[in-house]
Amino acid sequence: MALPSTYADRNCSLARALEVVGERWTLMIVRDAFFGVRRFGDFAAQLGIPRAVLTSRLKALVQEGVLVRDDDGSGNVEYRLTDKGVELWPVVRALMGWGDAHYSPAGVKRATRHDQDGGPLDPDGRCQDCGVLVPVPDIRIEPGPGFVAADSEPDRVSFAINTPRRLLEPVTPRAAAGRD
Ligand SMILES: [Zn+2]
Repeated sequence: MALPSTYADRNCSLARALEVVGERWTLMIVRDAFFGVRRFGDFAAQLGIPRAVLTSRLKALVQEGVLVRDDDGSGNVEYRLTDKGVELWPVVRALMGWGDAHYSPAGVKRATRHDQDGGPLDPDGRCQDCGVLVPVPDIRIEPGPGFVAADSEPDRVSFAINTPRRLLEPVTPRAAAGRD
C-alpha cells in the first residue's frame, strides 16, 4: 500500500523503503527469515500473527523481491530471502541494537558472533577477533544476557531460533517439511 507522496518523500528514499518494510509485522517476518524460518506455518506459530495478515505481508515481500516463494511441487512451500532481502540485515541489526541499548537494561537479547572463530561482532558486524566483516551466512546468533527465557516449554520453532545457530540456516529442514 503506497503512502501519500509528498515533495519531501520524493527526495528521500526512506519513504520508498518504508513502503516495502514499514508496515506492522513486515520487519519481524524478515527478521524471522534471517533466523531460518521459511514455512508459512512456522512464521504463523512464531509471530502469533493473523494468517490473513501473514498471507498479505508474504505476498507483498515476494512482489518486492525481498523474499522468493519456492514451491517444490509437492505442496512444500518455502519463503527465502533473496540477495535484496539479505541486504536488509544491517537494518534489522541496527534496530535490534537500538532496542537493546534503550529498552533492555540487562543487555543484548541476542548476541552475534563470527561462527568460524566465535568472535563477538562489533555494531558494524565486524568480528572483534579476526577483524573480518562477517558475511550474513557466517553470523551466529545466540541468546545474550538480556534474553528472557520462556515460562513454558517453547514451541519447536522458538526453541530452534533461541539455540545458537547461523543466520539463514533453515529451522525446518526441507526433508522434514510436510511431516507435521
Ligand atoms: Zn572472526
